[in-house]
Amino acid sequence: SAVELSKIGLVGLAVMGQNLALNIAEKGFSISVFNRSSSKTDDAVARAQGELEDPALFSGFKDMKEFVESIERPRSIIMLVKAGAPVDATIEALVPLLEEGDMIIDGGNEWFENTERRSEALSKKGIMYMGMGVSGGEEGARFGPSLMPGGPEEAWQSVAPILKKIAAQVDDGPCVFHIGPGGAGNYVKMIHNGIEYGDMQLIGEAYDVLRTIGGLTPDQLADVFTEWNKGDLKSFLIEITANIMAIKDDVAGDGSVLVEKVLDKTGAKGTGMWTMEEAVRRGVPSPTIASSLDARYLSSLKEERVAAEEILKGPTPAITSEQKALVEDVRQALYASKVCSYAQGMNLIKQTGVENNWDLNLGEIARIWKGGCIIRAQFLDRIKEAYGRNPELSSLLIDEQFAKELESAQEGWRRVVSLTVSEGITAPAFSASLSYYDSYRRGRLPSSQLVQSQRDYFGAHTYKRLDTDKVYHTRWSSDG
Ligand code: NAP
Repeated sequence: SAVELSKIGLVGLAVMGQNLALNIAEKGFSISVFNRSSSKTDDAVARAQGELEDPALFSGFKDMKEFVESIERPRSIIMLVKAGAPVDATIEALVPLLEEGDMIIDGGNEWFENTERRSEALSKKGIMYMGMGVSGGEEGARFGPSLMPGGPEEAWQSVAPILKKIAAQVDDGPCVFHIGPGGAGNYVKMIHNGIEYGDMQLIGEAYDVLRTIGGLTPDQLADVFTEWNKGDLKSFLIEITANIMAIKDDVAGDGSVLVEKVLDKTGAKGTGMWTMEEAVRRGVPSPTIASSLDARYLSSLKEERVAAEEILKGPTPAITSEQKALVEDVRQALYASKVCSYAQGMNLIKQTGVENNWDLNLGEIARIWKGGCIIRAQFLDRIKEAYGRNPELSSLLIDEQFAKELESAQEGWRRVVSLTVSEGITAPAFSASLSYYDSYRRGRLPSSQLVQSQRDYFGAHTYKRLDTDKVYHTRWSSDG
């Protein structure tokens, strides 16, 4: 008797897996699902009954063998379990049940080298492996994420029709394309998250400056962010920030906004740290993203900060009388810093792509971030266009369009950074971005001349001169 096999399978039915599986079925692809603990399979099936027009497309399994056997061959199985050891454990359980030509797609936030290691091991068994970044959280997974699949071209070809349907759709197509081989997809997702850290921190600083120095009320802030969301800064994160400004605290019920009651300790799950480890390892300067990560680490020192507040003196911020001008300056500072942050993230992707021969298309990467994901923004079109003008662009900063925008934003940007310095409030990502810009646009860096001289002085590390390409060593000290 002919049993109807599912088009695709999915293992791991926590937040992401459940929602992605429902999305797949909703787009008309039959799917079999499995989770280590069967209660989540029950939850998923119950949701399918309630949410899908055709729940028959969604089949839950409590036995892994039955699950695998219910999928059309060659099988494609998406895995959405906790990164690291759980992924290895899931692969180990799956592989004996698979056959040559089958494929596993890890949709988690996995370290890219783990994907490459697994891919190599599985290819010896004739099983294809992909690492696919999935962004957009719960909502994205359910209604259209940005997908960043990496791995063999053949594997991509076989799942592309499904991935293109389930991804977010924007004006220039679905938010998915084959990023590149090996761990390229995981890598790009990791940098996406690093950029996300930067975007969030920059918006956080805009909020701090406008609240603490601007004296704007939460209602005024909601209006400002709503307004910004109509222009160059239009993005998901600005939109949710406007919403956050309007949410009242119903626990205390004292009419204040909830955001001001939230403990100022920011969590982190590791992709920001990975991004910085990579930036450091590859020597790609990424100060905006670095300062965003540091800001999270500093935030976690809550008890120390509370104690230090009593000991360390500094100015008490005064509220400006030029509220309207400040709002515009902060908008400029935010936009310009954001450009710097993306320049850093894209350069890190570029550098690693070159080192690994991934042959990446940076413009297309920017394009698939336009929808579905947390950093989705209008702005990404400009990045796509910049790489369209010059795919080899050494930095987004020198793209003609961005260079012009940075020029017109810089007065406000400098005023905001100066103000935070003189008023003693923190805007580490604004100021790190500005020094990045200023360092990059200086053809000659005296500090580097001195540091290189010092290196040669005490360590005979040698130096070159500006006027020749020869290598020199000087005995700098008469007694040395
Ligand atoms: P999660 O909390 O990261 O993982 C839970 C899932 O992993 C459950 O299915 C769990 O099975 C399974 N699992 C844990 N340990 C296991 C083990 N030793 N062996 C087999 N299975 C194991 O789930 P999530 O938040 O949905 O995220 C899934 C992946 O997507 C992660 O890599 C995450 O970083 C990434 N991601 C998450 C988001 C988000 O917004 N949450 C966004 C983008 C990407 P049991 O139910 O049996 O415990």
